[in-house]
Amino acid sequence: MDNNQDLYCVGCGSKLQTTEKTKAGYLPENTLKKYIESDEQELYCQRCFRLRNYNDIMDVELDDSEFLSILNKISDEDALVVNLIDIFDYNGSVIPGIQRFIGNNKMILVANKEDLLPKSVNRDKLKRWFHRQAQNDGLNPVAEILISAKKNTNLDDLLSLINKYRGNKDVYIVGTTNVGKSTLVNSIISMSSNIKNLVTTSRFPGTTLDRIEIPLDDGAMLIDTPGIIHNYQLAHFLNKKELKEVTPSTEIKPKVYQLRGLQTLFIAGLARIDFIDDIKTSAIVYVDNNLLIHRTKLENADEFYKNHKADILNPPYDPQTLPEMQMFKFKATEKSDVVIAGLGWITIPAGITIKAYAPKGVEITLRKAIV
Ligand code: GDP
Repeated sequence: MDNNQDLYCVGCGSKLQTTEKTKAGYLPENTLKKYIESDEQELYCQRCFRLRNYNDIMDVELDDSEFLSILNKISDEDALVVNLIDIFDYNGSVIPGIQRFIGNNKMILVANKEDLLPKSVNRDKLKRWFHRQAQNDGLNPVAEILISAKKNTNLDDLLSLINKYRGNKDVYIVGTTNVGKSTLVNSIISMSSNIKNLVTTSRFPGTTLDRIEIPLDDGAMLIDTPGIIHNYQLAHFLNKKELKEVTPSTEIKPKVYQLRGLQTLFIAGLARIDFIDDIKTSAIVYVDNNLLIHRTKLENADEFYKNHKADILNPPYDPQTLPEMQMFKFKATEKSDVVIAGLGWITIPAGITIKAYAPKGVEITLRKAIV
């Protein structure tokens, strides 16, 4: 693109660019050429083009400071905040400081992707667990709800809650990347047949990023905000294809392992759990159904990992892209989940000590078992 002649998207105001696909204002070089040759006055970036023509919302990347400045602006407004969290990846998707950013505005906390959890997980228990977690993180919502944006589960109830608490205010949908904001917005749009004109996008003042405004019946707006990638999400280490392989898309079928002790479970090339006690035990693994789980003797585990990472143990497929593994040691005093952010969890019985490994930067935590 000719730098002397900066062009801007008429949809979101981003400066148009042809080099970085995932960044704001991207437009393929060819499309831009055609635009210019046809003397077209209204140039749209790819994101706005798809939004206008296909109601398809694409994510763009932004860094922490941009995200936080967007959140901060919400505290200046009189609005209702809907904070989406991925119930499968609570730690990876919760925003602990959110209360500070939204000021006095009310917040509805939404646990999305409930369809991923096995049917055997009691939903009332799950809600209580979610409530406790949120409380521990200092969140203070006016309401909490479990939904599946993809399967439309409980969306009517969510809409009722939104209507109950918003008065005639605007509604902000916030959350980290991949929690399902766009899916939710699209589901709401398709449920509300009288929302026809999904064109309006406008910029967050002071940032390069657009927000997507969907007009509600009374003239207020439903506003989809861009998300942020938490630093410890697996998304930092995996490419799109690999990320897709580790992210479950259907109900997880728990896998039970009877272990002799002094054994190791590898979860693809991304995690390793060593059972370091010389006693019989069991473990239940909750990860994507198609992900490889490989059992070895503890004494052979180092050698096996060295020889087979990014080969039998995949994804990842390229050993170069993986940072070194980091070890966490836990002793479960009660039945507990060893949670590997973004990947899933392994339930272990009380009294068991394990060493857990994941790529440096990916958080591993121990929590009271959900199930
Ligand atoms: P955003 O980055 O917050 O806008 O998230 P997206 O709406 O793009 O969703 C990220 C991924 O999660 C996509 O692969 C969606 O299909 C998936 N997803 C969103 N909502 C749900 C849900 O309720 N259940 C399941 N299983 N997947 C979901």
